[in-house]
Amino acid sequence: MAERSIPIADRRYVAPPAFVPETLPPPTGRLADARGRRLHDLRISVTDRCNFRCTYCMPRSVFDRNYQFLPHEALLTFEEITRVVRLFLAHGVEKVRLTGGEPLLRKNVEHLIELLAGLRTAAGQPLDLTLTTNASVLARKARALRAAGLRRVTVSLDALDDRVFRAMNDVDFPVADVLAGIAAAEAAGLAPVKVNMVVKRGVNDQEIVPMARHFRGSGHILRFIEFMDVGASNGWRMDDVLPSAEVVRRIAEHFPLAPVDPNYPGEVAERWRYLDGQGEIGVISSVTQPFCAGCTRARLSTEGKVYTCLFATSGHDLRALLRGGRSDEEIAGAIAHLWGARTDRYSEIRTRETAALRKIEMSYIGG
Ligand code: SAM
Repeated sequence: MAERSIPIADRRYVAPPAFVPETLPPPTGRLADARGRRLHDLRISVTDRCNFRCTYCMPRSVFDRNYQFLPHEALLTFEEITRVVRLFLAHGVEKVRLTGGEPLLRKNVEHLIELLAGLRTAAGQPLDLTLTTNASVLARKARALRAAGLRRVTVSLDALDDRVFRAMNDVDFPVADVLAGIAAAEAAGLAPVKVNMVVKRGVNDQEIVPMARHFRGSGHILRFIEFMDVGASNGWRMDDVLPSAEVVRRIAEHFPLAPVDPNYPGEVAERWRYLDGQGEIGVISSVTQPFCAGCTRARLSTEGKVYTCLFATSGHDLRALLRGGRSDEEIAGAIAHLWGARTDRYSEIRTRETAALRKIEMSYIGG
């Protein structure tokens, strides 16, 4: 018999089937975890593949031509994803973000968006449906995404300087094409666009003020993200983290800022507005000001495992239930059980030692 090769990714992320409890109370739309945190957001990784090799996320040294991405049959189908989302909505989720990998590389992702846009929250409202992308194909796809029912997009852009950006994405991708993607998103009605910049000290921190200058007054919202110790391959060191307080200080030297109240309790980005009325920025300070206490996010991996923390080392396999003939009630019960038992607060207890744990890669779990 021919030897069957088992992809590295499968072996590395082995997770037991999610536990199905004996009693299955119907979802109330108000599920809370062991620390009283509601389940409000679901992030879904629709592919573990990406056409960028950002040095802080999918370093080329690990994600090289020998790296084994998930085989197609391992991925949740659009119908499976839609079924899971429907069950999460019954438990109170109102916001769904598609991510990856690069979500726009998943073939026919517009169809998934169409299916999800047709769902309703427990309160009968359309869900807040959004997507995070590197914008490499956004200029081509923006109109179709909007037509399929996408509401907004978040675009990642780490520098305005072409040389710096090309080095960070490590595939020589130009800034101009990302800016064209942002413009296309705006023209298609996917606005306001949020622009995420991961700041790594000594790599792109000199780009903070030029990025702020560029996006001021554009209507787009620039957000600065502290470099995080996600995954186990990006060589994270605390010394590489530029605290958000320093980002705000540097921008305010040029363009005075004032703090703004959060849009809703538990909002991850801390908001600041330009005093001259030219819009706002956000800072996401997972390292220096952890927001675990207000974290309402669950994550669904490309192959159907649920993770209750971005820094998790293990997950709960829902695909085993989906493909094992389990009923909606049983799968909803499994979700309620795993969320009810959730105690994660990784960013509050991060140390040099925890940073070295074998955490799930960001490209697999979804950023
Ligand atoms: N490919 C899409 C993109 O580029 O936006 C979506 C997936 S990507 C993993 C999602 C976000 O995570 C991006 O904004 C990326 O910059 C961010 N990210 C990846 N690794 C990170 C790290 N180590 N620290 C902070 N943010 C990171």
